[in-house]
Amino acid sequence: MSFLEAKDLHASIEGKEILTGLNLVINKGEVHALMGPNGSGKSTFANVLLGHPKYTVTSGDILVKGQSLLNLSTDERARKGIFLGFQYPIEIAGVGYSHFLRNAYNTLTKTLGEEQKNREVFLTVREFHEYVKRNLDSVGLDPAFLSRYLNEGFSGGEKKRSEVMQMLVLKPNVAILDEPDSGLDIDAVKSVAEAINKLIDTGAGVVVITHYARILRYLSRLDHVNVMAKGRIIKSGDKGLSEELETKGYGWLGLEEN
Ligand code: ADP
Ligand code: MG
Repeated sequence: MSFLEAKDLHASIEGKEILTGLNLVINKGEVHALMGPNGSGKSTFANVLLGHPKYTVTSGDILVKGQSLLNLSTDERARKGIFLGFQYPIEIAGVGYSHFLRNAYNTLTKTLGEEQKNREVFLTVREFHEYVKRNLDSVGLDPAFLSRYLNEGFSGGEKKRSEVMQMLVLKPNVAILDEPDSGLDIDAVKSVAEAINKLIDTGAGVVVITHYARILRYLSRLDHVNVMAKGRIIKSGDKGLSEELETKGYGWLGLEEN
């Protein structure tokens, strides 16, 4: 059975229809790329999946293991193991990074416990810190980040790595990463991709929203490349499709590039 499925999804913001019949099936452990011109609705789809209050689903459905998500709040969706890595992570002063992670981890462990038997139980704060430090290390962030506020004063690249790090710690069932490569230099793109590979190793389904084939080349697994235009997926293929887009742009698909 599919883990996550969007069925003929239509969604609008302030009366304007942005998603216009989007279909996508993500099976457990699958890695998808979601590409498409600016303004095609990629971030909207990510936001709608998590129930952003500004968007209204006007028809269609989002199913997790066959059950509709639409009546669930954002935190209930998160507790189903869906994690969104933001295109523009926000800074939250006053929320300690470590405190935030530990609360989120414990909450998820409680709800996903039976489903994810490999979740470790940390009895002390110190044990949990060691676990987070290993993950910080694997994305090249300093352990000092543990004592900072969430994203506050992080550079663009640090914010992106921090999003993937949070996923490594929390072990979602499906992770959606909205442009994890934007604003990063070439080396940083590689290190974010390697961090995503660790997430893939956990068996999570992963959706990488990106404009570039580069980050996809580093991924250890890539099952489907989906291209969005005007609010729906108009073409799907394999890795070859992302390479084709890299060289030819979107014009050959009969789309206007913007
Ligand atoms: P992508 O991530 O593919 O670049 P987005 O999902 O961010 O695209 O945007 C899709 C469309 O939705 C764009 O045309 C954008 O202008 C529009 N949009 C996004 N937010 C709003 C908003 N608050 N009000 C009106 N239109 C919006
Ligand atoms: Mg976007």
